[in-house]
Amino acid sequence: AVVTRFAPSPTGFLHIGGARTALFNWLYARGRGGKFLLRIEDTDRARSTPEATEAILTGLKWLGLDWDGDPISQFDRADRHAEVAHQMLASGHAYKCFSTQDEIEAFRESARAEGRSTLFHSPWRDAAPVTHPDAPFAIRVKAPQTGETLIRDEVQGDVRIRNDQLDDMIVLRSDGTPTYMLAVVVDDHDMGVTHVIRGDDHLNNAARQMLVYHAMGWDVPVWAHIPLIHGPDGKKLSKRHGALGVEEYQRMGYPAAAMRNYLARLGWSHGNDEFFTDAQARDWFDISGIGKAPARLDFKKLDHLTAQHTSVADDAALLHELEAYLAATDAPALTQTQRDGLLRAMPVVKEKAKGFSQIIEKAHFILAQRPIAPDEKAAAALDDVSRSILKELTPRLQTATWSREILEGVVTEVAQAHGLGLGKLAQPLRASLAGRTSSPSVFDMMMILDRDETLGRLQDAVS
Ligand code: GLU
Repeated sequence: AVVTRFAPSPTGFLHIGGARTALFNWLYARGRGGKFLLRIEDTDRARSTPEATEAILTGLKWLGLDWDGDPISQFDRADRHAEVAHQMLASGHAYKCFSTQDEIEAFRESARAEGRSTLFHSPWRDAAPVTHPDAPFAIRVKAPQTGETLIRDEVQGDVRIRNDQLDDMIVLRSDGTPTYMLAVVVDDHDMGVTHVIRGDDHLNNAARQMLVYHAMGWDVPVWAHIPLIHGPDGKKLSKRHGALGVEEYQRMGYPAAAMRNYLARLGWSHGNDEFFTDAQARDWFDISGIGKAPARLDFKKLDHLTAQHTSVADDAALLHELEAYLAATDAPALTQTQRDGLLRAMPVVKEKAKGFSQIIEKAHFILAQRPIAPDEKAAAALDDVSRSILKELTPRLQTATWSREILEGVVTEVAQAHGLGLGKLAQPLRASLAGRTSSPSVFDMMMILDRDETLGRLQDAVS
């Protein structure tokens, strides 16, 4: 069975690149009935914070990426990591190195001065086993010194690293703490991880991690190192590109489904498909569809996909997510009346909306309450002439059957009687119903507001 994992370091918010990595692992596992695990790589105590862990979990939950079991803390597993280091020592794949930091520094300095490689070769590797009962030691894994290490990567292809470029990396420090390189391998092994999909900034680590797999005789997982995400300008993603954390996307009003679709397309493709559902993404996602070139952020595309997703989304689900958006942006919560109204308006206001802020914008007419305060343009549209025509329209609407065709007929007739096109009358009508000059169609609004509310607003506007 497939087991994937997402292994963020809790040093900040959930980065857009991390979110994409998590999504790929989630899609891969979910599409194969496998497991998706979460491991918090909190061994760097100085930089890891509980707030960052919380932010990462919140970001994943917002994106709808559910993980199996409890998140695993890497730091909590330090004893197990040390145990493996000692096993490698016992089996002769690792050795005790008594070199001190000062000695290593001195070696590097003289190597630099003489123009030699600064890779440290511990004198203890081939020393006869001696006992220094009190001297602190690090445990180093014995790296091969000739030949090359082959990394079979599902995205990058075969990557060969010359072994004379690898040093005997430390797996357990002299203070007894495991190194990150050891912890990752032990955890992936113990968690039964079969597929590691992660950023290609970890490709070099893979060569060193391989040493531990070999020393322990463990199966190497399938590795897929994915190219990083670039900004719209093609440069490495950085602060100046803005919007680096997923929570910013929530606050901008993007629905999670659109975000998943968009993130999936950042570096992965399935033919010419741009818009797809979660079910399709799960069915289609495969490592073979991951490209070798860095993907670029493209907000136009995100907007476009968002409009497609909102158009087909379930009304109640969309409303639910919209309320979470309001909470995330510290906007006032909806009243029950607003909630009911918005649900009725949803089929109209969700159409091609590029996110929740646009939905709210379009839904202004239903969220606002009588008397509707017209904005400047709406007030201008409600001039004396227009108001007198609206005055004439009102009693005709009062007696009309409240159906879209009939309402259209009545408004058209009154407009024609004044030698106006429908659009000319629609503008003051819109102004009186929505208090704005841009809104959904007046007939959609009249149907959603219903007779009493429509007539009430017209009354307010003409009196
Ligand atoms: N903790 C690493 C990171 O946040 C990921 C390590 C891995 O996926 O192996 O970049």
